[in-house]
Amino acid sequence: MSVKITLLTLVLVLASFAMTAVWAAEFHLGDAVVHTLIDRTSRVDPTGIVVGATREQFAAAVPSGFAEMNILAFLVKTPDALLLFDSGLGVAAGGEILDNLIAAGFSPDAIDHVFLTHLHGDHVGGLVRDGKAVFSRATVHVSRVEQDWWLSPERAGSPYAGGGENARIALAAYPGRVAPFEFGQEVLPGITVVDASGHTAGHTLYDLRRGGERLWIAGDIMHVADLQLPYPELTVTYDTVQPAAAAARRRVLDQAVAENTPLAGMHMPLPGIWRIAADGRGFKKYPVDGKP
Ligand SMILES: [Zn+2]
Repeated sequence: MSVKITLLTLVLVLASFAMTAVWAAEFHLGDAVVHTLIDRTSRVDPTGIVVGATREQFAAAVPSGFAEMNILAFLVKTPDALLLFDSGLGVAAGGEILDNLIAAGFSPDAIDHVFLTHLHGDHVGGLVRDGKAVFSRATVHVSRVEQDWWLSPERAGSPYAGGGENARIALAAYPGRVAPFEFGQEVLPGITVVDASGHTAGHTLYDLRRGGERLWIAGDIMHVADLQLPYPELTVTYDTVQPAAAAARRRVLDQAVAENTPLAGMHMPLPGIWRIAADGRGFKKYPVDGKP
């Protein structure tokens, strides 16, 4: 019996090590540590997602026919606060962020701030579980433009009605704790919110500066990195205003190259944080500690 328990314990410990090893990509930003939290990993056939790519572009960028497109969130631990950027799909939709957060030793009650890049379900679903707030103490930060767009009565009866209802439910679980911001604001010391709209009306890039170091948490600035880095003009079916989404991507990637700023993206291949280099007419990614 005791042997069985010991074996079971060992298996659980090994399983939790494996889980931790998967999620706990760490990136140091001054005295803060940034963890990549996995909600779901997947390889997708991008032909139904990316708009307007030629057969040649698919073949060149995704020769296997499948591209890595994950759902991620980022946890930032500073000496005095725990910050979560986006919250994934939520437990009810099979999202694993809450499990991975707990497996890594963090309580959802310990999260001080949740910063939302936008209000799509794969970013706000994790805010609620059974209609209740998952993060009992957190202030939820969201672009005022984004919030107003999704909660507008004009969404009712539109193709965005379901998304609007999801957003309303997620934010309603945090009465008095939703803090809408204007672009350009420094929402916390060292965290400035930048207009990266196009994917959605108020899609936000978070510009983090700490101890002379910098990181951009860029939400859905791209979805299928394999295609949209070499061909940044390609948009996806999820982009609300496709030309604006492409323009925002080009602008952000150009600036990431010029300033050598690492980019964290919610759908990027693991570990989710990359540096960007120019490559022909487009871009390529390379490891944060690597060479282009
Ligand atoms: Zn998304």
